[in-house]
Amino acid sequence: MADFGLLLQHSPSPLQPLQIPWLADKGLRLLVKRDDLLHWPGAPAFGGNKWRKLKYNLLEANRQGHSHLVTVGGAFSNHLAAVAAAGKALGFSTTGIVRGEEIPGTLTPTLEYAMGCGMRLHFCSRSEFRQLREPAFVAQYLQSFEPHYYLPEGGTNGLALRGCAELAKEILAQTGTSEHIVIGVACGTGGTLAGILNGLEGKAKALGVAALKGEFLAGEVSRLLQKYSDANHPEIIIEGNYHFGGYARVSPALFAFMREFRSQHHILLDPVYTGKLFYGLLDLARKDYFAPGTTLIGIHTGGLQGNAGFPDLFTT
Ligand SMILES: *Cc1c(COP(=O)(O)O)cnc(C)c1O
Repeated sequence: MADFGLLLQHSPSPLQPLQIPWLADKGLRLLVKRDDLLHWPGAPAFGGNKWRKLKYNLLEANRQGHSHLVTVGGAFSNHLAAVAAAGKALGFSTTGIVRGEEIPGTLTPTLEYAMGCGMRLHFCSRSEFRQLREPAFVAQYLQSFEPHYYLPEGGTNGLALRGCAELAKEILAQTGTSEHIVIGVACGTGGTLAGILNGLEGKAKALGVAALKGEFLAGEVSRLLQKYSDANHPEIIIEGNYHFGGYARVSPALFAFMREFRSQHHILLDPVYTGKLFYGLLDLARKDYFAPGTTLIGIHTGGLQGNAGFPDLFTT
């Protein structure tokens, strides 16, 4: 029997302070919300913010009597890996619609992993993938699929926001409420940031760091909040200077930062999201972006499965 209770019973992920002398000299603190440590037993890919985003969706799929999940993602998508792992953990069969044509013999480690969890892969063109953001197209495209519960790109929907709001409340319970808290989170679709803003109810600030060229992000987060929230939420602030050229684009400086972070704090980051987040938070702090007395909380949203796609990253 699949244990859906595990989705509801987890304890809060740790909030870990980092020792960074130059930051303390500026009157700042940085803590890491270790959501990377929140994952299904033995399946870290089903963890981090993907745990938060999938939690209520999986309960809802089960409540609706579905045994099949369908979702979409790119060949390096942490979301695809998470859905594959969640399906295996909870007894759903899964189909992943993958952006781009299949090139025989060249599956990414992420897609290998997803298939290993039992996910069926269905490749689609880039233009079809883009159209899968339109509900009308989704309905038509999925007509021929067996009955299923559909998760949109990144798993971002109202139930995902609900799970991410809990993450914000968990942090507030750990820190106590303070106007001097800034919660930093890496943004892809912006669903996690929107959920956090919802959960904060104005009790702390949040700062999204765009992992991709994110001109659309503030508008998207605002749209999500209008659709799924009625509470007052803090200002939407998105920092767009730390995408390193775009989604999954990296640089030697980013890799060097991540290696140093690992050796100083014994925490592994990923180059697509959390590496850019912590690079950005510390760079902004260095440039006196934050008022003295601010407590920065960087959310480690997980995503370490993707590091298999960067084999040189931690070899030195
Ligand atoms: C998916 C992902 C994000 C982005 O989440 P969104 O809700 O799409 O903004 C951030 N960090 C990690 C590690 C992720 O896997």
